Amino acid sequence: MIAVGIDVGGTSIKGATIKNDGTILHRFSMPMDKYKKPEETIGELCELVNKTLKENKYDDKVVGIGIGIPGTFNNETGVIVSCPNLPTWAGFNLKEFMENKCHLYVKMVNDADAAAIAEAKFGVGKKYNYVLMITLGTGVGGGIVINKNLYNGNLGMGAELGHMVIELDGKECGCGRKGCFEAYASATALNRETKEAMDKNPNSLLHEIVHELGGIDARVPFLAEKRGDEAAKEVVNNYVKYLSEGLLNYCNIFRPNIIVLSGGVANEGDNLLNRVRTYMKLHNYGMRKAPEVIIEQATLGYDAGKIGAAALYF
Ligand SMILES: [Zn+2]
Repeated sequence: MIAVGIDVGGTSIKGATIKNDGTILHRFSMPMDKYKKPEETIGELCELVNKTLKENKYDDKVVGIGIGIPGTFNNETGVIVSCPNLPTWAGFNLKEFMENKCHLYVKMVNDADAAAIAEAKFGVGKKYNYVLMITLGTGVGGGIVINKNLYNGNLGMGAELGHMVIELDGKECGCGRKGCFEAYASATALNRETKEAMDKNPNSLLHEIVHELGGIDARVPFLAEKRGDEAAKEVVNNYVKYLSEGLLNYCNIFRPNIIVLSGGVANEGDNLLNRVRTYMKLHNYGMRKAPEVIIEQATLGYDAGKIGAAALYF
């Protein structure tokens, strides 16, 4: 069995034909112009999909197209509700449009959910029944996979895991509320804290490292800390605390087997993860007696979105 998996990103749309064991067969990609009308962009994408399927005469049946969207949509109608980074896409019936152009069944999925499905079925979570995936990128996205099935919520709009408030009247969040997990655990939040620490500490090594790297990103405070910088240490410790407290909340609600972390900050790997594991062990529910939750970095990288979208059929 083969399905097409597509990941709509901010600068490009990437897709692949994928076997039901998660193996990628053929890849395709096209540039993304977020100001173009969706009819135009998705029209081009459909031509590319049709061409890929025609050029590669698959013996196995191609069962459908799965497409990961950076936003929310109505999973009964296929109409996009909101894609914050694709301002012209709201109101567009992507499912109907693609099905007409490609003559294949189309399933839509939120991009963070797609990555969660992929890691739960084929990645680091494949041995487990209860998998939570959290993406620490520009924002904080997440997905809940129970027995290999995605938890959707009403109209598919559940599991906005980044928008759980962890600090009442805290930092402003892009969603309109204050104190969301996203406002503390995203790469954007970490960069904000790094910037503030730099402003307060003109002699901090943070300045030097930002200069070396050519700008602020999630690596900066970790690198400065390794070289013994106190201001960086404070930034990292605070970040670990907020991240761990948020993850502990998920543990208390869901008690998954594993939480998979992905995105820019998670690339820090065990240097970050070991500290989160230690913090979480100390604050585990019920005087530390609840089953511990495994914390691991995602393994499928940039392919997770495509694989997860295709896996809606597997
Ligand atoms: Zn929020």
